[in-house]
Amino acid sequence: MSNPKYLWLNGELVEWDKATVHVTAIGWSAVGAVFEGIRAYWNADTEELHVFRLPEHMKRLGESMKMMRHEPAWSIEHLTEQVIELLKANDVREDTYIRPLVYRGEGSGKGFSSHGGSTDILINTRPNPSHLLSGNHRSACVSSWTRISDNVMPPRIKNVANYRNGQLAGMEASLNGYDVALIMNQQGKIAEGGGSCVMIVRDGKLITPDVTQSILESITRDAIMQLARDEMGLEVVERAVDRTELYIADEIFMCGTAFEITPVSSVDKYVVGEGDVGPITRRLEELLNDSFRGISGIREGWRTPVGVPSLVAAD
Ligand code: PMP
Repeated sequence: MSNPKYLWLNGELVEWDKATVHVTAIGWSAVGAVFEGIRAYWNADTEELHVFRLPEHMKRLGESMKMMRHEPAWSIEHLTEQVIELLKANDVREDTYIRPLVYRGEGSGKGFSSHGGSTDILINTRPNPSHLLSGNHRSACVSSWTRISDNVMPPRIKNVANYRNGQLAGMEASLNGYDVALIMNQQGKIAEGGGSCVMIVRDGKLITPDVTQSILESITRDAIMQLARDEMGLEVVERAVDRTELYIADEIFMCGTAFEITPVSSVDKYVVGEGDVGPITRRLEELLNDSFRGISGIREGWRTPVGVPSLVAAD
């Protein structure tokens, strides 16, 4: 697969191969780095690319930067516009992942505890097809690792260092033959996966850990809660979730920008429901897919149309 033509680095569109940093910056720059994961979805009928909940993602990037005491030279509004400019420059016409990365640049001292120095920002894109409605489902385990807690590292933001925690849980799960890990918080309640949130269905209610359970403040989670309430009339409950509730849940799925909705068919070898994609999960996948691509006009406010230049020019 060829790389996109451009990425955005410190204020400019730079050709992919020309965007280099010195080798000594690798690794150290990740201490204090934060990022966002955003997706844009292609609608083949209207020939339009839509970025999903772009302002919400960029707002969270601002919160992540603030938490890690970054002082960037660019405003969130400017960076938001630059995401669109980059997608246009790359003439993107397929489902795409967008990753703004904020890290300590020159003058940061490259130490563990340093702050100050320049805040460098990279935004890059890569093709990333959706797997929604594929019918696939995953086996999960409850990890023996504990989720980072708010006074250890801030779980609610996208701090790069947080991902060591999810990585340990994910490696454990895969070495033990499971697809994904669910991680408990320090109170022994279910928090989330290492890179996704979790929702369960019990007796027709959608239940998910609340934002004080050591979870990332997930934008997909928020979207799904709104769709469940408004489009399906479901009762949605945000509260602490016990491990054993997973074992007797009717349906379980993980959710997030990368995970979209990923159905879970077993936890610790307890079969969830019929061991297949449950009906509420399936309906939510349809609603989310419509929201991503702008089908049936649902939730227009969640999509930023890009206006793909080669098509605009052809009009
Ligand atoms: N938790 C973690 C740790 C994540 O990395 C992600 C992915 N960003 C999520 C949850 C889901 O968040 P969102 O829906 O905003 O992508």
